[in-house]
Amino acid sequence: MPEHWPSGGPNCLEMQEFYVHEYNPTFYVLRQSGCTDYEKPFLYLIFGSERAMLWDTGSRNSRVREAVDRLIDRWLKANKRESIPLLIVHSHRHGDHIAGDAQFAGRPDTTLIKPDLASVREVFRSGVLDLGGRAMDVIPIPGHTDDSIALYDRRTGILLTGDTVYPGRLYVSDFPAFRTSIHTLADFAASHPIAHVLGNHIEQTRTPFVDYPVGTKYQPDEHELAMSAGSIFELDRVVQSMDAPKKVFLRDMTIDPRIPNATPIKTRP
Ligand SMILES: [Zn+2]
Ligand SMILES: [Zn+2]
Repeated sequence: MPEHWPSGGPNCLEMQEFYVHEYNPTFYVLRQSGCTDYEKPFLYLIFGSERAMLWDTGSRNSRVREAVDRLIDRWLKANKRESIPLLIVHSHRHGDHIAGDAQFAGRPDTTLIKPDLASVREVFRSGVLDLGGRAMDVIPIPGHTDDSIALYDRRTGILLTGDTVYPGRLYVSDFPAFRTSIHTLADFAASHPIAHVLGNHIEQTRTPFVDYPVGTKYQPDEHELAMSAGSIFELDRVVQSMDAPKKVFLRDMTIDPRIPNATPIKTRP
């Protein structure tokens, strides 16, 4: 995994809408440029023998379909295949991860799981998603939103944690649910090999305890994307010891409870 990713600038004319990192020939990380939207989320494209899976479609102002199609075409050529079905899964329903959904409407051989709790529950009832010789565990982790899920790729040992665990501000809308979910993740991480914990954003700087202000596009000194199981264990220890939601600055993350009725919950754009 790269230690540094392009964020947004300093010169936006030189930035591509998506920076693509090939983790391996069946696992791609895409980062949307902060020049298109300050959320600059990360997306993941993973190939099995029967299906490709796209984790999120990014935030506004991007041509995500083009970026994804280019990667799929490349994979098809390398594997001497004519086509592969595409499954679109969302980490959760916030706008900065589903804004590109509409671009996939009408795309052949494409299934998009609607970003809402009922659809996610229905599709992932078994807890396992098989892309063809590649099983992924689906772990419900409500708290940031009710429909948040984590995904564990058994082949690489990568755990995708969406907006629930990442080097940045962990916005919590339902604290009891969040506390339970973090413990679920810690239990999972303790019993599985974890190569990387990969979330959806970077908002921390490389200086411990310090995050970039909301809305920052260019982050030349940002924290690395990849975290380890240790970060989940630390988060679990802190969250389990909190009897009431409060803002807590950790070395690599900030817990930022948004308590209904106390502070207005602002859905991220
Ligand atoms: Zn979110
Ligand atoms: Zn987000």
